[in-house]
Amino acid sequence: MNHGYRSAFNFKKYPRQAGGVFISMNLLLSLNKTVEGILQLIYPPLCLVCQTTIEHRIEGMDICQNCLQSLTIIPPDFATENILNRLDPCFLDNLIICFAFNDTLQVLIHQIKYGKFQRLSESLAKFACLECQKMTPAEEIDLIIPVPLHRIREKERGFNQSLGISRGFFEPIRDRIRTDLLLRLRETRTQTELNRDERIINVREAFETVKPAELYDRKIMLVDDVVTTGSTLNECARVLKNAGVVSVEALALATPVFGEKQDQFTLS
Ligand SMILES: [Zn+2]
Repeated sequence: MNHGYRSAFNFKKYPRQAGGVFISMNLLLSLNKTVEGILQLIYPPLCLVCQTTIEHRIEGMDICQNCLQSLTIIPPDFATENILNRLDPCFLDNLIICFAFNDTLQVLIHQIKYGKFQRLSESLAKFACLECQKMTPAEEIDLIIPVPLHRIREKERGFNQSLGISRGFFEPIRDRIRTDLLLRLRETRTQTELNRDERIINVREAFETVKPAELYDRKIMLVDDVVTTGSTLNECARVLKNAGVVSVEALALATPVFGEKQDQFTLS
């Protein structure tokens, strides 16, 4: 019998039970943390974007400081001038966009969509929330609705990235997030291949509201990952307003910014 082994694990504290050795949940959790700590020393986390070693890791986010700093904040009036004012008719009452879509965000959003990094979408949105310059107060939001994926697409991907972004961004009021009030009825073609008019046709009649009584007279916050012309969000807002909601605001993590405008933005 190995007495050294027995004393190290203190069998009096964790007595044998019928069918196996009883190990408390706390012991398992602390072992798990220790193993994680050792693994991080041997294999330090690598940045998902540039693959360099991360020295100061923000919880749940394997992104280095350099890559985080490469994210460019969008000025609050950019969305109104460049997106809302070009929608005719416009059903959105406000649009908030956090970052300019750049190479870093392209990698991150690809990881979120196809790498099934659900935690990454939440922590990136938490980071965006801290950086966001202008946000609607919580008392002015009744329901938060992530732009839905078609159910077949969601099954393929495993989760809806807009839901992850909603959870991260609106953590204190995440009980207001609803995924059962707006449905995507059909698959729409990837909007990136289409021009402005084609995008509007592509998303027309693609969404439907459910349980209209729960939407009536409510103030809605829609959430999406990347917004370009705003036609998807606008179509969601149109059907929501048909169901009797009071207002529809929208939040997106990023938008592509082209040419000179990109140089005008400053890092916060
Ligand atoms: Zn990096």
